Amino acid sequence: MNAGMTMREELEEKLANEFPFMRRGNSYKEQEKSGEIRDLFGAFGCEVGDGWYEVLRGLCHEVAKAYESAGLPVDIVVDRVKEKFGQLRFHYHRVDYDPGIHAIDSLDGRDLQAKPDRSELHQEVTKIVQKWKISSTTVCESCGAAGVLRRDLRWVQTLCQQCYSPRKQKIDEWRLKKEYNDGQRI
Ligand SMILES: [Zn+2]
Repeated sequence: MNAGMTMREELEEKLANEFPFMRRGNSYKEQEKSGEIRDLFGAFGCEVGDGWYEVLRGLCHEVAKAYESAGLPVDIVVDRVKEKFGQLRFHYHRVDYDPGIHAIDSLDGRDLQAKPDRSELHQEVTKIVQKWKISSTTVCESCGAAGVLRRDLRWVQTLCQQCYSPRKQKIDEWRLKKEYNDGQRI
């Protein structure tokens, strides 16, 4: 379970314009027509609050930079961007980039040319994603101010004091009411 925040479309678009791998595929409605929702990122987009825009942007920037330094095209497909236990979760898978090239290589008698070794690059991407997952626990998911993990709300969330207080108050009121009602029943 999570608090169910979603990023404003405008911010998502900004990310997609800056980082092509953040472009969403078919929407929920389009996928629904085929009878199956297979691409969750396409369907739901960035399932995190606006406050994590810079966190997500930092992650994407480092990923893009890693590929650029390696001189290779980005070969990840984003599967889902969401919050879990107050942390940013960035799920993706790798695709084989250009199988056509290897087919051509094999025509001139050489064995299938080894694909450029991307294992180090992929390890780096894993590290980047991990790093920003940790970083996200210091940024308010709602507004982007400095935040901390709050474990005493309905769900674990990373929030600043200002965004946390009203939520905490609501929870406390709800608990009091529940205790009162439970007490009445005895
Ligand atoms: Zn906040």
